[in-house]
Amino acid sequence: MKTLLINLITVIMTTTTVSQKFSLAPLPYYKQSLEPYISEQTLMFHHDKHLAGYVAKLNELIEGTEYAYMTLEEIILKSDGAIFNNAAQTWNHQFYFDQFSSSPLREPSGAFAEAIRSKYGDIKGLKEHMTKAALALFGSGWVWLVCNDNGELDIVSTQNAGTPLTDGLHPLLTIDVWEHAYYIDYRNARAEGVKAFWEVLDWKVIEERYNKCCKR
Ligand code: MN
Repeated sequence: MKTLLINLITVIMTTTTVSQKFSLAPLPYYKQSLEPYISEQTLMFHHDKHLAGYVAKLNELIEGTEYAYMTLEEIILKSDGAIFNNAAQTWNHQFYFDQFSSSPLREPSGAFAEAIRSKYGDIKGLKEHMTKAALALFGSGWVWLVCNDNGELDIVSTQNAGTPLTDGLHPLLTIDVWEHAYYIDYRNARAEGVKAFWEVLDWKVIEERYNKCCKR
């Protein structure tokens, strides 16, 4: 009876703790559809090479470790070093690519628009603050619009693979300030890359994120 019970527990454990592999999420639009602001070639390298590389490396690093049984968010909160870098870059890029559209909503509305108005004056003010942060960030990193648990908006910058998730904040939108995000299209002109970014950012996606995580 005892052997039967142990066998049963072993079967349950092996079927419920299957080692998972992360896969490359496809882009929710055609690669040429963000042109002329973000080119097909940039997306081919950025999504199919850079992000695919982070996903493949993450899978390689977590194989046979405790991280193989965690969600991406759990790995980000519990790891450091190479595993953190590849997990966070996977999450950051999926979040980044999901926010664009070939026919973007140009401005948010409702409670989100009101929150932007009270903190930054208007949408233009928010864009100016974020653009300034993107140009001021030294080296590689990300600039984020976030809210905290009280629903208050803020702009934060993170270096390299850094993410606001580790500070308990809720990301709403992000600018990739790594050179690979803009160098093919704009070479060293980061300001031009950030200006183009706003042209394809879909505020519908950002507003949905706000309503889900920040609305009080
Ligand atoms: Mn990138």
